[in-house]
Amino acid sequence: MLPVVVVHGGAGHVPRTRAEQSLSGVCSAARGGYAVLRGGGSSMDAVVEAVRILENDPHFNAGCGSVLNVRGDVEMDAIVMDGRTLSSGAVSAVRNIANPVQLARLVMDKTSHACLTAGGAQQFARSLGVPEVPQESLITEYSRMRWKKNLAPDANPVECQMGKMGTVGAVAVDREGNVACATSTGGMLNKMEGRVGDTPCIGSGGYADNQSGAVSTTGVGEAIMKVTLARLILFHMEQGQSVEAASDLGLAHMKSRVGGLGGVVTVDPQGRWAARFNSLQMAWAAGQNGTLHYGLYAGEDFTQSMDPDQDPDQGHGPPPAGVRH
Ligand code: ASP
Repeated sequence: MLPVVVVHGGAGHVPRTRAEQSLSGVCSAARGGYAVLRGGGSSMDAVVEAVRILENDPHFNAGCGSVLNVRGDVEMDAIVMDGRTLSSGAVSAVRNIANPVQLARLVMDKTSHACLTAGGAQQFARSLGVPEVPQESLITEYSRMRWKKNLAPDANPVECQMGKMGTVGAVAVDREGNVACATSTGGMLNKMEGRVGDTPCIGSGGYADNQSGAVSTTGVGEAIMKVTLARLILFHMEQGQSVEAASDLGLAHMKSRVGGLGGVVTVDPQGRWAARFNSLQMAWAAGQNGTLHYGLYAGEDFTQSMDPDQDPDQGHGPPPAGVRH
C-alpha cells in the first residue's frame, strides 16, 4: 500500500477544451510526486514536488495561471503540513513568486511561525534569495479573458466561479507511514484585494496528522473555512470512518450546512486513499504500487502502469487511454 500520493486540480467545471490538459497535468504531478516517494523521499518532499509541478502548469489556478482579483492582479495562497510533527507553513496574498508552495515550506522549515502574508512573505522570500518573477509571468491570456468576462454586467457569478477553479493540492504517505499535505491557489476569481481564502488556513485548506491521515481541499474558500473541512474529515476518520466515507460526510455537511460545493483528496497512514467531490468535476490522479489512477467525473477511475519501460511518455502530453474500473 505504501508509498502513495494523490493530487487534485481543483473542484468545479473544467471546460471541455481544457479537460484533457487538466487530466494530463494531474497525471504528471502524481508521477512527479510518486517518483520522489519511490526514490525514498518523504511525503513532504512528494507533496511539494507534485504541487510545484501543478503551479508551473498554466492550466491550473495556482502559480502561473492563477485567477485574477478584482484589480486584474494575482495574489496567491499556499500551505504545507507535516503529519509527523504537526508543523505547518503557509503564505497568503503573495505576489511575484512562481512557486508559493515552496515558500510555504520555507516558512515551516525556517521560521517559528505558521503563516506569513503579503509584503512580509515577500520580504522573507527576498531574505532567502527566492527569485522574484514579474506578475505578468503569472498571468495567462485565459485568466485575463475569464476576468474580463466576469466583469461583464450580464455575467453569472456562480458560473464564472465554478468555471474557473483549478486550485491544486496533494496528499501523500511515504514508506515510513508519515503523511503530509500541500495546497496552492490563486483564490477566487474577482476576489477583493487582500482576500485570504481557506487554502493557507490550517484545518481548512489542508491538514495532516500521522494519527489519522491527510487531506487537501478545494472549493469555495468561505464555505470550506466555515466547516474547517480538512479537519472535519479527519475527525470522521478518527471516529472510525473510511477515507471515502469521511470525505463524503465532510463534503455533505458543507453542502447542507453552508451550501458549498467542493472536493478533497484524502489518505490514511496505511495508504488507503480517496478523491471525492460534489462539484461537477475534479481532475485528480493517484500513484500507488506502480499504477497511476486518474479521473475527472464522479465514479471515474482510469488506470495505467507507471513502469517507465511501458510508458516512454513519462507523463507528458495527454494521459494515454486508461482502463476504466
Ligand atoms: N479554495 C480556493 C479559495 O477559495 C478556491 C478553489 O479551491 O478553487 O481560495
